[in-house]
Amino acid sequence: MKNIAQFWDDAIVPSLVEYIRIPAKSPHFDQAWEKNGYIEAAVQLADQWCRKHALPGMKQEIVRLPGRTPVLFIEIEGKAKGNVLMYGHLDKQPEMTGWLEGYGPWTPRMQDGKLYGRGGADDGYAVFASISSLKHLVEEKRPFPNIKILIECCEESGSYDLPAYLEFLSEKIQTPDLVIGLDSGCGNYEQLWGTTSLRGLVNGVLTVEVLNEGVHSGDASGVVASSFRILRSLLERVDASDTGVVKHAVFHAPIPPERNEQAKKAAGVLGEEIWRKFPFAGGMQPMAADLADLVLNRTWRPMLSVTGAEGLPLPANAGNVLRPKTALALSLRLPPTVKAEGAASQLKTLLEKDPPYGARVSFEYGQAATGWHAPQTADWLLSAIEKSSNEHYGKPAMWMGEGGTIPFMAMLGIKFPQAQFLITGVLGPHSNAHGPNEFLHIGYAKKLTACVADIIASSGTEP
Ligand SMILES: [Zn+2]
Repeated sequence: MKNIAQFWDDAIVPSLVEYIRIPAKSPHFDQAWEKNGYIEAAVQLADQWCRKHALPGMKQEIVRLPGRTPVLFIEIEGKAKGNVLMYGHLDKQPEMTGWLEGYGPWTPRMQDGKLYGRGGADDGYAVFASISSLKHLVEEKRPFPNIKILIECCEESGSYDLPAYLEFLSEKIQTPDLVIGLDSGCGNYEQLWGTTSLRGLVNGVLTVEVLNEGVHSGDASGVVASSFRILRSLLERVDASDTGVVKHAVFHAPIPPERNEQAKKAAGVLGEEIWRKFPFAGGMQPMAADLADLVLNRTWRPMLSVTGAEGLPLPANAGNVLRPKTALALSLRLPPTVKAEGAASQLKTLLEKDPPYGARVSFEYGQAATGWHAPQTADWLLSAIEKSSNEHYGKPAMWMGEGGTIPFMAMLGIKFPQAQFLITGVLGPHSNAHGPNEFLHIGYAKKLTACVADIIASSGTEP
């Protein structure tokens, strides 16, 4: 553990600082990513760092399929039996507003053991932590299985480039016995958290057009319906505005009993931190009083968010105009076991049918990513996770679903149904991936690296 902590301070943190400076926004948020070269810069930085810290017998390459974001692929031949696939990504979410004075997405800043800046925690640290865990095993002369590390650059856009790479690299990847995904969350910074499920996601743009051009609202209101009001009624078809409950059964899935139990346990450990970790404004209260219900709300229940808008001027520029159209970006999170493609087409039908007043309504969905539900965790893995958490954090491991989506996990779950999964990560309270003031909790990441090392070593001795 001491070596790992030292390596983090000496070799990883300085490179993460450089990485944070690179605005390597995912293709979805930087359509000219190829020309801009930031993704290339990020993958080069990681590639060069790995070369510098190469382990014995390590092979690495930046794999490039035409027109697609690159993949950094690393192979390390192990001395123990088995095959482990490790996963992370280097592309980032866009800037977002709301960064504190003196902080910024591309301005790395270390404060109280936390490295602030975009992409450090989601998910730049993954490749560095992976190599660090293996380096530790090499130094301690503990055998480990064959390792493949796959670092993609398209995750925040729904990993649409990944199936092609999985196909292209299938002979090298072979069949993993254990998948370690380092792109997930943790309930607190005090113990190891295993992710049991991820939600799926459908996002798209809902547009309502009522006029060919804007007109005087005093003249037209009462004759021409407001595009915003039509949007309100269309959204009401999806969820109830007073409760947030998504109405249709097609967007719901039964919650397995053991996940219910784990949610209660997680609620017991986390207490009100479950909701207090969010920066609630004023007297704002969470959506449910029961803490386990809040865990299930964010992991197993569909929820709708409006994430962007078009056709609305800023208040200072708003004249008394009945505007011709309003468009909203919608993000519908889905339970882990709901198929996203089907849900997306159902959502389209639901929103477009019988438009009020015959308005021109369209819902064009971009991303439809199915969630992921962990297979039964094998006993050896359960005890390895438990042991490493106790050893490095001094507390037992915890299990909880996460509310976000990692499309790669669904792809792997289908492709390798026999594989075991350890999906974990550093996205704990206030780390705020995707929002402003994202940070990487360095102390937590060091211990996580040590846990990952131990679990990889155990996987090589598993019966
Ligand atoms: Zn991520």
